[in-house]
Amino acid sequence: MSFDAEQKMRVLYALRSRGVTDRRVLEAMETIDRQRFLQGLFAERAYEDTPLPIPCGQTISQPSVVGLMTQALQVGPRDKVLEIGTGSGYQAAILSRLARRVYTVDRFRRLTRTAEQVFEHLGLSNIVTFTGDGSHGLPDHAPFDRILVTAAAEDPPGPLLAQLREGGIMVVPVGQSDTVQTLIKVTRTAAGLDYEELRPVRFVPLLEGLGDD
Ligand code: SAH
Repeated sequence: MSFDAEQKMRVLYALRSRGVTDRRVLEAMETIDRQRFLQGLFAERAYEDTPLPIPCGQTISQPSVVGLMTQALQVGPRDKVLEIGTGSGYQAAILSRLARRVYTVDRFRRLTRTAEQVFEHLGLSNIVTFTGDGSHGLPDHAPFDRILVTAAAEDPPGPLLAQLREGGIMVVPVGQSDTVQTLIKVTRTAAGLDYEELRPVRFVPLLEGLGDD
């Protein structure tokens, strides 16, 4: 699952220059070939630091944003991670290199099916994929050590906060869709929830219910 040295260098340069410095995150991003998660003409642009279209009108995030979100999540090797918004599966694949197990949910069956096939092809056996409305989380598998939401909500969804273990971290873009949103880091402590604003971002909206594809 490797891509050639020049492509790797280009990706790593873009990541470092945008503030992704965590060695484990860089290693994970070096081993997962983003091109595997893209189709058709867009696959040729896999190594550009830019978001790109994927089926169902969604987007694969920009690599540097994937790196910064993953870094902010501070994933450890024993962590159980929940991702809302599987999309192409690229972010889940990166998380799977850092965590014990990754649960990923998307509202489009077409996207979760395709992502599952890529995970299998790459031998990423610690990812469990679900089709459903991820704003409810996965109560049967909670609590989670880390939760990453890759679609923008007006507020961090209550059910997700409730499924975060004490000491756990959730990273979520917050704000109205179609405007610039803010990436928020929420930490659950014994005393309650701590909120930290990280940076402006732009994500597709977190929508209710199942997608029709
Ligand atoms: N993490 C993805 C990019 C996510 S794009 C990647 O690495 O490619 C945002 C995704 O969130 C879309 O696929 C969209 O279908 C999904 N989404 C939006 N609202 C959702 C919801 N309520 N539950 C689950 N997935 C949702």
